[in-house]
Amino acid sequence: MLDALRQISRDVETAPSFEYALGIIVARVCLILGTEVCSIYIFDKVSGELKLIENEGFHRSAIGTVSLAPGEGVVGLVAERGEPLNIENVSEHPRYRHFSAIGEEPFSAFLGVPVTHNRRVLGVITVQQREDRRFREDEEAFLTTLAAQLANVVARADATGRVSAILNADYVPTDVRYEGIAGAPGIAIGTAVVIGPSANLDHVPNKETDEVAAELTSFDRAIDRVRADIEETDRSLSEHLPAQERALFSAYLHMLDDSAIAGEVREEIRLGNWAQGALRTVIARHVSKLQLVENPYLRERVTDVRELGQRVLAYLQDIHRDKFYFPEQVILIGEEVTASMVSDVPANQLKGIVSLRGSSNSHTAILARALNVPAVMGVSEFPVYEFENQIVVVDGFYGELVGNPTTQVMDHYHELIAEEAEFVKELEPIKDQPSETLDGHRLNLWVNIGLVGEITRSLDRGAEGIGLFRTEIPFASRDRFPTEEEQRVIYREHLEAFNPRPVTMRTLDIGGDKALPYFPIDEDNPFLGWRGIRVTLDHPEIFLVQVRAMIKASLGLESDLRIMLPMVTDRREVAEAKTLILRAYREVREENVAAKLPQIGAMIEVPAVIHQARLIARQVDFLAVGSNDLTQYMLAVDRNNPRVANLYQEMHPAVLHALRELAKAAHAEQKGIGICGELAGTPEGAILCVAMGYDVLSMNAANLPKVKWVIRNVSLRDCRRILARVRRMDDAEEILDFIRDQLIGAGLERAIPHHETPSVFL
Ligand code: PEP
Ligand code: MG
Repeated sequence: MLDALRQISRDVETAPSFEYALGIIVARVCLILGTEVCSIYIFDKVSGELKLIENEGFHRSAIGTVSLAPGEGVVGLVAERGEPLNIENVSEHPRYRHFSAIGEEPFSAFLGVPVTHNRRVLGVITVQQREDRRFREDEEAFLTTLAAQLANVVARADATGRVSAILNADYVPTDVRYEGIAGAPGIAIGTAVVIGPSANLDHVPNKETDEVAAELTSFDRAIDRVRADIEETDRSLSEHLPAQERALFSAYLHMLDDSAIAGEVREEIRLGNWAQGALRTVIARHVSKLQLVENPYLRERVTDVRELGQRVLAYLQDIHRDKFYFPEQVILIGEEVTASMVSDVPANQLKGIVSLRGSSNSHTAILARALNVPAVMGVSEFPVYEFENQIVVVDGFYGELVGNPTTQVMDHYHELIAEEAEFVKELEPIKDQPSETLDGHRLNLWVNIGLVGEITRSLDRGAEGIGLFRTEIPFASRDRFPTEEEQRVIYREHLEAFNPRPVTMRTLDIGGDKALPYFPIDEDNPFLGWRGIRVTLDHPEIFLVQVRAMIKASLGLESDLRIMLPMVTDRREVAEAKTLILRAYREVREENVAAKLPQIGAMIEVPAVIHQARLIARQVDFLAVGSNDLTQYMLAVDRNNPRVANLYQEMHPAVLHALRELAKAAHAEQKGIGICGELAGTPEGAILCVAMGYDVLSMNAANLPKVKWVIRNVSLRDCRRILARVRRMDDAEEILDFIRDQLIGAGLERAIPHHETPSVFL
């Protein structure tokens, strides 16, 4: 049965439609269990009834016509109880109902299993048989396992409105909400332009050729044209993005070199494969190598390699990339929106991005943030090709989108966009005002940064320093480690731009969900593996080069350079890192670079450190809490997994307790403490951090003005009073609601991004 289940699961996953998948399931169940009938009933959101949606054994006319009120019949009973029901002679059951018109004969054996998703019963799958018998336990287990798989398929179709559309002929789904991952903040409404690669490498056959020279010539021509396209894209983006962020295009160009993919393709052609087949072989080889290393950053590189292959293929097939007609307000949608697809859209028309694959770490999300375009990534349950030309709402704050919005919902989002724009404008003047509460408590609002393009935006928003420079980002857009001088130039740019404000540079934080394309880390459990400081202490040559570059970059500037260590677990790591930093400093001085000694800080992201915080604080100049990772590790919830996203609660009482203990520990050692996780950039989180005594709140530049505005409009006393109440609460939702109520009570509701959910969604 295991093989049968695996096979069904594979076939269902690759089924071209939801209906087709249901058909596969009922047919296979009948075959495997040797039953006469298998039926799937699903709750219809429109009528509230349980309706027969697919069946093997009855007349086809039964589909859509058999419907049961909740709790009606034995099928209704299965749904009501939420448990399997295995009955030997069903016609004698008091709840039995007979539908003769559809060809239902008086069956004896009945087995019904609920289809449950996220604790909700979506429907019931049943099998029936004429023979007098009770279904065996292994048959019940089989159907239960299958029902669990079916639940995912139904939930997906339900979310897109497909279930309602099948069960109700005249139903047109509106305001369909899809959830993904917030890729870049902001809200946009526009027309969907669905973009996909124009040629399909997967469908290219191998073909022997005798005309090797001709194949090589057409391949060379295709490469030249792709090269020209990329250079053109790079040029057209140069106005909007600094060179650093366009490094991806150099990486593309490099892949086209003879020493990389192009060279391998030529080899294949010389072996007698025609150019298209040779290209497919080489691309597939690279993709499968990269896929073996299961980590998100490398998956992004898989996309790049595939995209490049498609582009070359398009020219080989002489399919010129369709010059898209772009409407005024483009929402670019695709299964895998790549950075180069983004750059195909005229910058002033691109309003939003939606990608089925990818995460907030994807190149595309990074690019979207740099271009200030709202983006939602990883929307796995989205029927992308049905959306061409449709109006779509993209909510990059919450990682949501709304398909086919009604006027009511559109008005709601238009209002939010207008409010947001007005609010941002109104907040402009406070950029030069201090971050100070009404009763004079001063604190530092700094920014989290990673791209050169964010420097200007951060300064425009009144950033008083950099609280977290994610140095892995410039590392990621290359095809090898940057040299000391290359790093120095990048760091210098930040330090100079912020001079005399402090700049906190985190040493390379890779591992977990962040890997470099050229430095794969293949682990079963990467978040608990070789991450952050663990990697760089094992590679002092990388660490020393980076620290030297940072120190050299600070030469002659007033700015305090603060070097921060990620993922610290114990004092030994801090001691070793400090030794290396001091060594790097000595080396730099020996090169006659008279730079200042940097401050050294430790990030608190590992729960164990909460209990050793004073010990760690004694070793360093400052502490900085990485509440994103700290929350994930304290709650044992993957921060990138949409399935458990509802359990990822930054306001969990245990997390808040830890944050308070950490602030107390740092201050007991007379050391400053900051927080640079997402929590610090929310008005609710900021209020609590102020009350706990955090000296630095570091956040995304987009959130800074709002947080400053809130801080300038509350008193430290109020914050402390709110914290005192919150400390008596034992539920994250209650805490969040309470703080929001307090903000609303203080007239500060505008700082909460659209806290009112449109009524159609409730
Ligand atoms: C954190 O973990 O809170 C943090 C700021 O680091 P990152 O999000 O880069 O892991
Ligand atoms: Mg972290």
